[in-house]
Amino acid sequence: MRSLEDAQGEILAAMPRLAAGRVAISASLGRVTSEPVVAHEPIPSFDNSAMDGYAVIASDTESAPVDLVVNEDVAAGSVPEVRVTPGTATRIMTGAPMPEGADAVVKVEDTDLLERGWVTIRVSVEAGRNVRPVGGDVTPGDVIVASGVKLSARHVASLASIGIGPVVADLPTVAIMSTGDEIVDPDTEHLAPGTIRDSNRALLRSMLTELGVPVVDLGIIGDDPDDLRAAYAEAAANADVVVSTGGVSMGDYDYVKQILRELGSVEFWRVAMQPGKPFAFGTIDGVPLFGLPGNPVSTFVSFEQFVRPALLHMMGARNLFRTQIRGTMGEDVHTNEHKTVFLRVMLAHDTDGRFVAVRSGGQSSNVLSSLANAEAFAVVPVGVGSLSAGDDVTLEMFRWPEGRTLDT
Ligand code: AMP
Ligand code: MG
Repeated sequence: MRSLEDAQGEILAAMPRLAAGRVAISASLGRVTSEPVVAHEPIPSFDNSAMDGYAVIASDTESAPVDLVVNEDVAAGSVPEVRVTPGTATRIMTGAPMPEGADAVVKVEDTDLLERGWVTIRVSVEAGRNVRPVGGDVTPGDVIVASGVKLSARHVASLASIGIGPVVADLPTVAIMSTGDEIVDPDTEHLAPGTIRDSNRALLRSMLTELGVPVVDLGIIGDDPDDLRAAYAEAAANADVVVSTGGVSMGDYDYVKQILRELGSVEFWRVAMQPGKPFAFGTIDGVPLFGLPGNPVSTFVSFEQFVRPALLHMMGARNLFRTQIRGTMGEDVHTNEHKTVFLRVMLAHDTDGRFVAVRSGGQSSNVLSSLANAEAFAVVPVGVGSLSAGDDVTLEMFRWPEGRTLDT
């Protein structure tokens, strides 16, 4: 049996890297940067006012209150024309360029507008007050976004501020299929005896969509050698990665293993993890193939532990795995000490603000209902075997709990 860590290491080492190219800012969300984005100009690109008020020479305000002559009005987007000289001030709006000569802004609340172009400055300010200096946010040469970053909305905003479309990795196209004679379309209203609806493909399609990668959906393939052969060949011809579910466990009567052996160079692994022990990995026509076990929660765990990191790695992402935090186990649990066990848990806050984890329902690998309500895996490492209420536990977050509601 392989350890989880060895399996992950082998998979990542085998994944090809995708090519990269420049994309528009508007198309960059969710993409992974292939090189750092470096500023070529300062932000702000000019000294400007942080307040609506009056641009002044700070030393003029030392003896405040003081009356100054108003030169002109400068709105955001316009350019000052008059130099501020001792005894004068310029009316200025937030974001408008600082006029020459001025070195501070007095906010409008600290002034009184007088008759005939005079203003009273009621407070004294030091040089630089309420001025946003050129380059105060970013200076040329600053790295705006590092290489290997999956771009969030906040990164896209930074890119927009500097006007640079980033160089990002191509997206891996992923072909998916479900295998098994018992599997029927989710839209099936009345299940024939012995059949079950295909939840795996819905899960895979949704997780891949969340990851932002294109999907080629080959549907459900029955346990027929010719159909399987044709489907795997089509998948490999049309995608960068193939993911199928079902047919890779020990006691199978079906043809998936036989066809994978015949078409590609695929190994059948037993990984010391639960759920998700049986697993196929290799290539078909040079295209990486993941054969995930059919039980829906095994499919989820295998996707999370192997497929998602592998796809991120292909894109050159630096962070491949979900965030793990320390929390508290809220109940006693006994697990298989020879495996890394992933318990589906729901989280509550204790009085110290730590997460307390309790199982979200049944833990068998076919029990999907407990997956939908879970927020994290409580990860019980090999060699532990049992946890008691109050013990520290590693929580691998696949969803952060919803925030506050209004009525608390
Ligand atoms: P297998 O890995 O093919 O031996 O399947 C293991 C279990 O997962 C069996 O109970 C299958 O019926 C079930 N299963 C396989 N594929 C799917 C699927 N696409 N959706 C839901 N359950 C599945
Ligand atoms: Mg099967």
